[in-house]
Amino acid sequence: MSDYAVTIGLEVHAQLLTNTKMFCGCKASYGAAHNSLTCPVCMGLPGALPMPNRRAIEMAVKVGLATGSTITRATKFDRKNYFYPDLPKGYQISQFDKPICAGGSMEIRGLFGVKRVGITRIHLEEDAGKSQHGDDDGTLIDLNRCGVPLIEIVSEPDMSSPEEAYAYLMEIRRLVRWLEVCDGNLEEGSLRCDANISVAPEGERGVPVEIKNLNSFHGVEKAIRYEIERQSEVVRNGGKISRMTLLWDSDKGETRVMRTKEAAHDYRYFPEPDLVELSISDQMMAEAHEASPEYPWVRRERYVGIGVKPDDADVLTAEKEFGEYFEEVFAGCNNEAPRAVRWVIGEALRWRKELGGGERFVVSAYATAEVAGLEASGKISGLAAKTVYEEMARTGRSDPAMIVKEKGLEQVSDTGALEAVITKIIEDNPKEVERYRGGDMKLKGFFVGQVMKAMGGKADPKATGEILGRLLG
Ligand code: ZN
Ligand code: MN
Repeated sequence: MSDYAVTIGLEVHAQLLTNTKMFCGCKASYGAAHNSLTCPVCMGLPGALPMPNRRAIEMAVKVGLATGSTITRATKFDRKNYFYPDLPKGYQISQFDKPICAGGSMEIRGLFGVKRVGITRIHLEEDAGKSQHGDDDGTLIDLNRCGVPLIEIVSEPDMSSPEEAYAYLMEIRRLVRWLEVCDGNLEEGSLRCDANISVAPEGERGVPVEIKNLNSFHGVEKAIRYEIERQSEVVRNGGKISRMTLLWDSDKGETRVMRTKEAAHDYRYFPEPDLVELSISDQMMAEAHEASPEYPWVRRERYVGIGVKPDDADVLTAEKEFGEYFEEVFAGCNNEAPRAVRWVIGEALRWRKELGGGERFVVSAYATAEVAGLEASGKISGLAAKTVYEEMARTGRSDPAMIVKEKGLEQVSDTGALEAVITKIIEDNPKEVERYRGGDMKLKGFFVGQVMKAMGGKADPKATGEILGRLLG
């Protein structure tokens, strides 16, 4: 899309799923009555002192370990000073020169292939409040979000297309959800993304332009594509890119200037005097290791190792819960991967999407494995198995054997009954029998079809084949 060298780096803020805020005991939750979750500390009243939240620190360490970052064992907090109505203290407690994690990376995949994106740093900070710009009432301030813990994950400028940026953001989202440190909801703002983009002729250094306000996954992709086009146009016309910050307007599908370089902030960082340096103990490191689940990329390789196709392994590791479900079905399927995959992806995940709103499985893994077993043993046909499954999905029942009985779906493998039916079919179709005996073997399918029709699809295919072969000679 561009003839120039494109570099993209992302800064992702993730709201941590702690019960309380970063430096006080107020509840950190979304959707409460305005300004109801506040205290002197998070409102920045004089004399109030911050106290760090241990859970938030542990969560940051977990993300650091997962991304292969170095954990800064002697870390500290700093003040980032700026004035804004939703920041009552006049500064944000953040981390400047000693972020809690540094030097990690993350692998991303897509149509562009496989790529490793460096993670420069991950630091802890507190969120600001929320300004609500009304039409008539002016601007209202809600301080409930003030002081909610965040990690800011800063990538290296290693991405070179909107697709890569999108894949990276999705990967961050999967990871923070997988580690249960953030719910990953972009629309509610628990995950927020800013992008730095530069376009320059091959071999030259570009000037990064920042875009803020990217509040949907496809918005990120669109905004970056738009900005690459804009900068390419400037470069093509011999112009110069100037350093600035843009806001993405998702309604109009364009960026607008938020501030130029002249108005750039000087945050006057300095060490937070109300907090001592923080040391990450060996014990905390050990606990974070202990509390870390099998990572999604490790699990993916393990699934491929047991015979799951790579594409299917991607689907099964999209969310941690999928894998837990899959493994239960896999065990119930005699450890036969293709069969378990077929049931989990083809049925369980499909019905989860259709009837569970994509949020929950509507049939338990146990019941899924049971239906798979009924089919594998030949008790019911593949078609009947799907019927049983749909019945469970729609009604919430979890007794497949009973459904089979009620609906009369057992396959008939009783040779006597089958022989009677097949004998009659042979009598009724003398011409086909003659042609078959004359060498037209394709007619075997015709006879199987007739048997299935006569038996309402419940004839055991194996027994049917044997008897047909014998009686037709
Ligand atoms: Zn508070
Ligand atoms: Mn930040």
